[in-house]
Amino acid sequence: MSLNVPEVSISCLCGAAKQVVALRFPNEQATSRQLNIIFCHCYACRHSSGLLYTSYVPIQPPQSLDGLVHNPDETAHVRRYFCGTCGCHIFQREQGSSGDAVGDDRLWSVATGTIIGRAGTEEGADRESGEADGGKELPFFKFAGHVNVAGTKDGGLSPFINLVSAPREPGVYGHTDEAPPPPTISATQEGKNVLEVRCHCRTNRFRITRPDASSRAPRSGFPDLMVPFAASPREVVSNPHTEKWWLRPPDSAAGPTRYLAGTCACRSCRLASGFEVQTWAFVPRCNIFFFCGTASPDAATSEDTLVPLDFAALPKGILRSYKSSSGVLREFCPRCGATVFWHDRWRPDIVDVSVGLLDAPEGARAETWLDWWCGRVSFAEDAGNGRSGGAAHWAQSVVESLARGLRSWEEEKGETAV
Ligand SMILES: [Zn+2]
Ligand SMILES: [Zn+2]
Ligand SMILES: [Zn+2]
Repeated sequence: MSLNVPEVSISCLCGAAKQVVALRFPNEQATSRQLNIIFCHCYACRHSSGLLYTSYVPIQPPQSLDGLVHNPDETAHVRRYFCGTCGCHIFQREQGSSGDAVGDDRLWSVATGTIIGRAGTEEGADRESGEADGGKELPFFKFAGHVNVAGTKDGGLSPFINLVSAPREPGVYGHTDEAPPPPTISATQEGKNVLEVRCHCRTNRFRITRPDASSRAPRSGFPDLMVPFAASPREVVSNPHTEKWWLRPPDSAAGPTRYLAGTCACRSCRLASGFEVQTWAFVPRCNIFFFCGTASPDAATSEDTLVPLDFAALPKGILRSYKSSSGVLREFCPRCGATVFWHDRWRPDIVDVSVGLLDAPEGARAETWLDWWCGRVSFAEDAGNGRSGGAAHWAQSVVESLARGLRSWEEEKGETAV
């Protein structure tokens, strides 16, 4: 391995995937020492991560796949490896166009959110690389564009992350924007009141229903998205007037029709998914109904039974839980690695649902269902937490760009409403 090839430390949330990987410069980027990073918005990336996009950095073949799993059904030329314990996406391998599954080892890449810093940098070390390691700074990670945006219909998160102006051609990244599965009921009248949700392998299939009287029953403090925990007094965060903030609009005469949604850049979301920006919808548990059955995972059939979401009663094998801190559980799909839920013991009846799994007919942002909070990226100040050098700077620039983009979207929406 050449001395000139920078090595980086990577990790997932549980630490099982911790290792050092060597970066790989595509030919045209070798002289500039710059790695172009492309955000992919394709259906498979959204539904296997639970996020609205994924991003990877090219690497040499990794030393170890210990503790990692991949969706055994993945027949496309992209294989996604994720941590079997915490669900974090770690590697992606493009299989090459020949159909040869094992021949081409040049096309590995690592999920950007797992990169901590230069090899030897421990997580949390506040070390500016460039000095301590003899001047060998990490290569510059450069945002190079969005691909496979068309399938999102509404652009997903792409309109808000505008670090470049020139769009990239789909296909440069090896992904194709595969068609979503045919709608089951979304096109019908009933479909207006039911939102289909699926992970990529369809082990997780459930429905979200419109807000109703029971949606008001839960009590909950405000999320960091609305009231920043670090900067707000406890008595404000606790939601003393028991506002039903997850229902949108919260106090309309006609009743709420949507749920709150937003973006999160906290360290745990990053290391549980592998990417810098998680997207969550806040949905009462009573409005979530799971498909449980032995039927084909391809479509809802009569053999399927719809059951209200009860984490204790779901059949084994549908969700795997990881306790990311005391009282906090994150669920992911054990087969395809999609993040699915976040919930905690203080508000057991409101759960965060990964927006990337939604199959709303109008588009990836599901705007007839979700009201996006644009005032803040939750835990934006956490973007570089536990990272150093170029990896930290990269994360901060992405999150700052997203925050700016969301604020201008809100201003535009305000103007059209007047
Ligand atoms: Zn892990
Ligand atoms: Zn993709
Ligand atoms: Zn799955």
